[in-house]
Amino acid sequence: MKAVVLEKKGDIQMRDVVLEEVLSPEDVRIKIKSVGICGSDIHYFKEGNIGDFIVRDPMVLGHEASGVVVETGSAVKHLKVGDRVCMEPGIPDFSSIETLEGMYNLDPAVRFWATPPIHGCLRETVVHPASLTFKMDDRLSFHEGALVEPVAIGVYSVKKSRVSSGDTAVVIGAGTIGVVTALAADAAGCSKVFIADIKTEKLDFVKKHYGDRIEIIDLKEKTISQVIKQNGMRGVDTVFEASGSARAYEGICDVLLPGGNIVLIGMPSSPVPVDVVALQAKEISIETIFRYVNIFPTVLNLIASGKLNVKPLVTKTYSFDQSVQAFEYAAGLPAEDVKIMIDLE
Ligand SMILES: [Zn+2]
Repeated sequence: MKAVVLEKKGDIQMRDVVLEEVLSPEDVRIKIKSVGICGSDIHYFKEGNIGDFIVRDPMVLGHEASGVVVETGSAVKHLKVGDRVCMEPGIPDFSSIETLEGMYNLDPAVRFWATPPIHGCLRETVVHPASLTFKMDDRLSFHEGALVEPVAIGVYSVKKSRVSSGDTAVVIGAGTIGVVTALAADAAGCSKVFIADIKTEKLDFVKKHYGDRIEIIDLKEKTISQVIKQNGMRGVDTVFEASGSARAYEGICDVLLPGGNIVLIGMPSSPVPVDVVALQAKEISIETIFRYVNIFPTVLNLIASGKLNVKPLVTKTYSFDQSVQAFEYAAGLPAEDVKIMIDLE
């Protein structure tokens, strides 16, 4: 079948691949319809690795996908041929301790699409466990289905923060994950959500599409503390750190209310010093996330309900045949762009 293959660092080809995919009784075969390009795909393309995950052999890219079921295994009950679906891209060992404890995202044996050496989903069809394949509401488009994966990180972060209605939050970092986290915090009932970044184009995007619900903080002009004071607030209940920048941790406690919490989403490239006493003086708690777990159905419901509008996030669309161009564009992504989507026919 045709696939988008990262041959090695800096070299993407569209070509035929032969993948031995057996449909076991618990699997479904899915014809892929839309795939979003993720920052991680671009890291592998440009740098050839993310930390210890190194591209050593040709690998099919892509992990944010939606499609249509074309074949079901004999034991599959909740899906049928023709169902429109989106897929959770990390396949754990279903009998591991982590999986049995409900934390299958932390299973060391998890096989995640387009994380070396596992092939991704930018190809005509995939075979996938039915338990990680979710039927989409008729109201959802294939683009929205492919966006469930990145949005899941935001919704899961908000779930871990234990935000309750009326709470206030700051999201640091207005990249795709920062924006979807802010949207998830708003959908969870926050009375005020700020998003802070140094890139004006990113903030302009938020202001244009979500300005009625999310307030931007341009860190080139003001600090988060200054804006919070200007709003007559003592602090916020939760800070979502979605920038991965070490600088985000400087003075992070100053913007929090006593008893507040911090959710760490961004992954700094090296260890970050943290002011422990400042955390203690306000009894601030820290939550962390690694991808997400048991959250796709919630995300699908949120999007279908209209409470979380992801449509504006797709800023450019390419056809499958134009995939190499799509990656070249995404590798130098202008700051005003958010999600690049590839549509298969
Ligand atoms: Zn992703």
